[in-house]
Amino acid sequence: MHDPILLTPGPLTTADQVRSAMGRDWGSWDSEFRGLTAELRERVAKLAGGGTCVPIQGSGTYAVESMLGTFVPRDGRALALVNGAYGQRIADTLRRIGRSHAVMDTGDFLPAAPDDVAKALSADSAITHVVVVHCETTTGIRNPVEAISRAVKESGRILLVDAMSSFGALSCGLEALNCQAIAISPNKCLEGVPGFGMIIAREADLQAAAGNCHSLSLDAHDQWKYMERTGQWRYTPPTHVVAAAIEALHIHESEGGVEARLARFSRRHRVLVDGMQQLGFETLLPDVWQSPVIVSFLSPAHPQFRFEDFYLRLKERGFVIYPGKLTEVESFRVGCIGAFEESAMQRFVDTVGVVLQDMEVDSPAPSPEALEQRMQANEAASAMEQ
Ligand SMILES: *Cc1c(COP(=O)(O)O)cnc(C)c1O
Repeated sequence: MHDPILLTPGPLTTADQVRSAMGRDWGSWDSEFRGLTAELRERVAKLAGGGTCVPIQGSGTYAVESMLGTFVPRDGRALALVNGAYGQRIADTLRRIGRSHAVMDTGDFLPAAPDDVAKALSADSAITHVVVVHCETTTGIRNPVEAISRAVKESGRILLVDAMSSFGALSCGLEALNCQAIAISPNKCLEGVPGFGMIIAREADLQAAAGNCHSLSLDAHDQWKYMERTGQWRYTPPTHVVAAAIEALHIHESEGGVEARLARFSRRHRVLVDGMQQLGFETLLPDVWQSPVIVSFLSPAHPQFRFEDFYLRLKERGFVIYPGKLTEVESFRVGCIGAFEESAMQRFVDTVGVVLQDMEVDSPAPSPEALEQRMQANEAASAMEQ
C-alpha cells in the first residue's frame, strides 16, 4: 500500500530525494551546515531575483508574523487587504502584536480593487504599510498584487506580501511585486518539507528595521545580522529540513525553474478543472482569478453528499484532499502542487467519479444559493476586468 498522494497546499507529497536528504544528522555550528544555510539563502535570493533571504524557524505563519513585526514600525499603521483566512490571519497578527491597522475585507470571492486601495490610502494618511496575500490559499484566488503595488507606490506607501503559496511557481520577488518584503515557504510550490519560513528583503531595509520587532525569536533584523556575522541561525535550526529544502531547490532548478513548475501545475490544474466540470462540479472562482496552485469546488447539494464520507473514501483510494475554509458557502479544495506523477490527476478525477457512484450521489451540482453567489462574483470579475 502506497502512501496516499496529498492533494493539499502543503505540507504536500515530496520527492524521494527530498526525504532522503533528511537521512543524516548535522551539527548546527558545523561548517558543513553553515554551508547549507549559505546555499539555501543564495539560491532563494536568486529565485526571488534579488534581495537577501532570512530564514525563520517555525511554520509559514511565524515568518509572516516576523515580517509584520520587523517591517511595520511600532508607530506605523498597516492596511490589511483581506479576502480569505490568510488575509484574516494577517489582520489578527497585527492586532496581537499591537500594530495600528485598518482592514479592507472583500469577502471570499473578490480581490481588493486597486482603485479602492488607492482611495483608502488617500482617505487615511496615517497608513504607512499595505499588506496583501499573493495567492489566497483559502480559495486559490490569485490577487492582482502587481496592480495593487502600483496604487501603493503611487501613494508613497510600503507594500508587504505574503507569497507563501506562490513562491516557486509564480514569479514573485521584490522587483516583480514592487514591495519591501515577501514571506515565503519551502513546503508549498518549492516542494520541500515544513519547519521554517523565509523573508526576502533588501539589506538596507533590514538594517533600517532594527529595534522594530515585538518579539525576540521572530526578529528578522536580528536573525539576519547574526547570520551575516556567524553563518549560523540564532537558535536551533531545523537542520534536516534545511537539507531537504536544498534538495528541493536543486530539483526545482533542474526541472527548469519557476516557468517549468508553473507549467507543470497548470497542466494538472487543467486536467482537474476540466475533469471535475465534466462530472458536474462547479469551481468556486471565475477562471480569471484562479491560480494553478489550489482549486476550490462548491460542495454538491445532494443529500447523500457528506464531506467526511467523501474524504475518507478518496483517502482509501489513495488521495487526500482538503476541506474548505469558507464562511459563506460549502466547499472543498484540491491542490495541484507536490511531487507526484503526471497521470495522478486524471486518476484522481476518475476516482472522484467512482466515489460519487458509491455514495449514490447522482449529480454533484451545488445549491442554487452557492451558484447565485458564484454568478455575482463572475459579474464583479468582468466589471473589474474593464
Ligand atoms: C500556508 C500559508 C501560510 C502559512 O501557514 P502555516 O500553516 O503557518 O505554514 C500563510 N499564508 C498563506 C497564503 C499560506 O498559503
